[in-house]
Amino acid sequence: MASTRVNGKRLAGLVLRWYASHGRTLPWRNTRNPYRILISETMLQQTQVQRVLTRYPEFLRRFPTVRSLANAPLRDVVIIWRGMGYNNRAVRLHLLARSVVETHGGALPDNRERLRALPGIGRYTANALLSFAFGKSVPVVDVNVRRVLSRVLWKMESISAVQAEKPVWNAAEALLPPGRAYDWNQALMDLGATICTARAPRCGHCPAVSLCASRGSMRRTGDAAPKKVRSFNGLPFRAYRGRIIDALRERNGSMRIEALARQIHAGFSRRNERWLTSLIHGLERDGLITTTGSGPMIDRRIALA
Ligand code: SF4
Repeated sequence: MASTRVNGKRLAGLVLRWYASHGRTLPWRNTRNPYRILISETMLQQTQVQRVLTRYPEFLRRFPTVRSLANAPLRDVVIIWRGMGYNNRAVRLHLLARSVVETHGGALPDNRERLRALPGIGRYTANALLSFAFGKSVPVVDVNVRRVLSRVLWKMESISAVQAEKPVWNAAEALLPPGRAYDWNQALMDLGATICTARAPRCGHCPAVSLCASRGSMRRTGDAAPKKVRSFNGLPFRAYRGRIIDALRERNGSMRIEALARQIHAGFSRRNERWLTSLIHGLERDGLITTTGSGPMIDRRIALA
């Protein structure tokens, strides 16, 4: 992959002009409240925008502040997380809210080191908060931004290729237009989500086409081979984990494990106990559920933590 020098000022001008007329209207762009931005960023990390649009307002109605989230029982947070998938994020958000209340009196700090010291806040989330909530001039590199910058700045051979993370972050830092970091970061995200998409980049509609090192030259590749995931009866374990949490949500958070087993897998029999036990232990380790009772797993009760 050869890198090219790009006129950063010109690139920023083209992309920001495009963003002014084509940027998406999203509710988390109407706020600079750090907590609201934290919630949207956490939701968007593993859930489609359309789904987040419906769940975000409901979550904020129920938990409008860091303190309200920290004070809630974890099970209430997991219940309201329904439909979002990856329920571990509800546990992590709850833990983070408690930590923000304990160490910062309920206010998310506007400082990179203090943000990174909080549980579950990595480079991406810290910079998203610094840029979108606190107006700092820092880059924000998610999968969309990484793909766009890889293609514009390096000649990508195929549509599935992306540049390594470190040079992309460095380039994103160097390209920040003075005084426009917020719009620039949002614009790159929109460009990646709507024009320079993973499978079908629309170079003919792209504001960066005149400067892009990869325009029209990327090989189309077939879908990458799916990653191997632990599965049972043709479904990944992750899907069954989701079914368990959904079943508990429907039953007010608690039920007998035998009934649960039949609900998540209609053909369940005692021969499947090892599989079920491994699923339940995984959810327990992640802090999502607890079990009570003794003897074989099937004879116990399960509850949201
Ligand atoms: S010209 Fe094509 S490959 Fe380059 S950034 Fe635009 S959409 Fe992506």
